[in-house]
Amino acid sequence: MKKIQEKKLRTIIKYAYYNVEYYHDLFKSLNLTPSDIKNVNDLNQIPILTKSQIQNKSQKIIACNVDKNSCTSSTTSGSSGKPLTVLFDKNAMGNIKSRHLRNYFESGGHLRDRIIHFTNPNRFAHTKWFHHLGFLSKKYLSVFDKIDNHISNLLDISPDVIEGYPSILWLIANTIQDKNIEGLNPRLILSTAELLPQNVRKKINSTFGIEMFDQYGSAEFGTFAWECQEHNGYHMDIESVVVEFIKNEENVSPGEKGDIVVTGLFNFTMPLIRYSLGDVGSYNIEQCSCGRRLPLMKIIEGRTDDFLVLPSGTIISPRNINFLENVDGISEYRIIQKKPNKILVQVTKGTDFSQKTISLAKDEIRSGCLGEDIIISVEIVDQIPRDKSGKIRAVVSEVKKTII
Ligand SMILES: [Zn+2]
Repeated sequence: MKKIQEKKLRTIIKYAYYNVEYYHDLFKSLNLTPSDIKNVNDLNQIPILTKSQIQNKSQKIIACNVDKNSCTSSTTSGSSGKPLTVLFDKNAMGNIKSRHLRNYFESGGHLRDRIIHFTNPNRFAHTKWFHHLGFLSKKYLSVFDKIDNHISNLLDISPDVIEGYPSILWLIANTIQDKNIEGLNPRLILSTAELLPQNVRKKINSTFGIEMFDQYGSAEFGTFAWECQEHNGYHMDIESVVVEFIKNEENVSPGEKGDIVVTGLFNFTMPLIRYSLGDVGSYNIEQCSCGRRLPLMKIIEGRTDDFLVLPSGTIISPRNINFLENVDGISEYRIIQKKPNKILVQVTKGTDFSQKTISLAKDEIRSGCLGEDIIISVEIVDQIPRDKSGKIRAVVSEVKKTII
């Protein structure tokens, strides 16, 4: 697997050098040529790339011969700064989807399982021909919906598999326990896109009587690390990504904390080389007791936002309201719940900013507040403060109530 990884690394480096203006200029300025990067250890000659560095020059990082109309795009979340739109060609999407299937099957998923997936309606996938045959057919439920509707949908469908953000799964588990709801027996629960705290995992596991599986990935690379049944960490898809753990510009030792820096080996449309995801993790050189040889990593710091308590006392997941990356004209944002019925949105202006931006942002947030009477105000600021990991906590609640 390592040989495959390094061969693919050499290929994408060479491709990026000859076809992507940003890397061509970068290599020239460093006096490097593709032949200087022969293996993973040589990567440290290339500086780490941050999202903000390519924010305003994302065109330069797209390969010159790409037909953009045939590409799929994906927008990163606002939690690590300004959203970035990443382009994928057909092969890159195929890679992401096939890796997703690998970890789905490795976690115990079956081809004809009934699957419920909680997410933002913007991320609902289109129905494909094989869904009509019952293969990998998913029922998408909106995170904007009320928890009681989620429960009744779950009871109606009786899914084999439930997928979603940890915060939504926690809310569902909590409601099931509080109301003593019976009749839900999923075989598999998969979570993604947020840090999964131990207490949240315990709650979900004890509610459903199974061991859930967490996955790690990003909009830029898809899911690339996933748990096996041993839960010793997350197996990395090393044939498709190089994952480094960096502290003070050096690779850390096994078990030590480092910034997670990823090189994608599969997206020739928009190659991302040594790209910092803004999360902190560690890696392990010991082989997993499951027998799989894909190496293990752990996530130590990642996306964590506060839950919100609405005036009625209803608790909602931060994922209900923090999708402002879909609103044109916002560069960065932070949503602060000041009182149960008061939400302040701080935004920094993006290039397409207009008065419409403010009303769209308010609408987006209001749609996640389950119809409750909330006063939403928008404040334009020059800068959004970051926490010590460099991330923006996109949703902060000042309403004092211990939820978890
Ligand atoms: Zn394993």
